[in-house]
Amino acid sequence: MSLNIVSYPTSNQDERSGKDIKIDTLIFHYTGMISNQAALERMTDPKAKVSAHWCIDENGTAYKIVPEHLRAWHAGKSWWRGRSNLNNISIGIEVVNPGHEFGYRPFTLQQMNSIVILCHQILKRHPINPRNIVGHSDVAPDRKKDPGELFDWRRLSNEGIGIWPRSIIEPRNSRILKIKDYGPEVKLCQKKLAKFGYGLYQDGIYGEKTQMVVMAFQRHYRQARVDGVLDHGTTAILDHLVNYTKDK
Ligand SMILES: [Zn+2]
Repeated sequence: MSLNIVSYPTSNQDERSGKDIKIDTLIFHYTGMISNQAALERMTDPKAKVSAHWCIDENGTAYKIVPEHLRAWHAGKSWWRGRSNLNNISIGIEVVNPGHEFGYRPFTLQQMNSIVILCHQILKRHPINPRNIVGHSDVAPDRKKDPGELFDWRRLSNEGIGIWPRSIIEPRNSRILKIKDYGPEVKLCQKKLAKFGYGLYQDGIYGEKTQMVVMAFQRHYRQARVDGVLDHGTTAILDHLVNYTKDK
């Protein structure tokens, strides 16, 4: 399979700041607009001040918008594994989908096939830790839902791109935690989520911020249930991933 690449340059870009910048994060988005054309027009409108390195149309075409050595403007205020301002160290891929606002629908097979080929090429150019292959909602959980719970992270992981939970063991006797709960068990879960990468205070209070982080976690790693509740399954996946990534 080969990738159909179409050049679609923008002025919404600048130099990455700092010396010897290493690109080590890959962030997926959905466009959240009615059509590919609308998304491309927005990313090339100087007034919009947004862009991405790549945009993948539903027919699988890969639009090359910002050269990878430059900084694209896709993540905004963001945080992952102790670092903020992720535009500076990341590559951003927009995937065409109307999104939750305009009719969220499954990503097409052509899109996923193209993403696999593109990611293999990107990972050859930049050695990116699988832990740092994330969604916009992972790095900005209080603002963003993209690429959302229909994005096929499992397929990507099967192709060696990013991580996905395997061999889950349901824990016994763990308390189900949800909004307004508080105490040491909440704090422990906050600690695990923060250790895994999310920007989250560990204050032992299951507030809105914690709920949004849990939802972001579910959108990526437990797509069957996106309700912001730390039920047995979500906790088991979290435990598994924290353990799996501890040396990585
Ligand atoms: Zn986004």
